Amino acid sequence: MKGQILIISGPSGSGKSTLLSRLMSEFDNIYFSISSTTRMPRDGEQDGVDYNFISVDEFKKGIDEGKFLEWANVHKNYYGTSLEPVEKALKDGKIVIFDIDVQGFYLVMKKYSSIITSVFITTKDRYELKRRLINRGSDDAQTIENRLFNAATEIAHIGEYDYLIINENIDKSYDCLKSIFVSMGSKSQSFDINEVIESWNEC
Ligand code: 5GP
Repeated sequence: MKGQILIISGPSGSGKSTLLSRLMSEFDNIYFSISSTTRMPRDGEQDGVDYNFISVDEFKKGIDEGKFLEWANVHKNYYGTSLEPVEKALKDGKIVIFDIDVQGFYLVMKKYSSIITSVFITTKDRYELKRRLINRGSDDAQTIENRLFNAATEIAHIGEYDYLIINENIDKSYDCLKSIFVSMGSKSQSFDINEVIESWNEC
């Protein structure tokens, strides 16, 4: 099988991480692209697991050395995807999952559009998002306002994504994400077509 990319975007607090954790605990053959970020870890987040937490200087050095497939400034912090492990995972035939913002989505599309399936995950409205961010308790009032502002900007781009999940019920949303993921394995692009034709014609 050939490698493919699943891009997940959506506001912080929409339930993306919960849905992705469930997907990764159920399926093998996934490579989750661990982004690098200059933001501080939240309670419970682990370096090298949730993100590679690095300094602004290290991040800028990575940009200069061309280490990032894409990078963006989100909520006044840098976030970026390292190129090398992604290329290796694609070569190994894995489904590479990115949890990136809309800016990153457009940049990755430029390079890999033919092997990308994209999903935007959101709450049903901004009030529900605000409620979840307040309940999560990890951001101050100003950061929550920044995140809501950013979410409103991102929502304008949902029509560019292949799928939209409005996450009101986590089990239903998971079923939806899972069927998208499973159907990626049947995309003709994920096969070596010549190999399939040759083996079909054998004997
Ligand atoms: P958070 O701070 O809530 O973990 O993430 C904030 C936003 O940054 C989310 O929308 C998330 O998808 C996005 N993000 C995380 N990693 C990357 C990355 O490597 N590149 C880009 N462009 N966005 C990212």
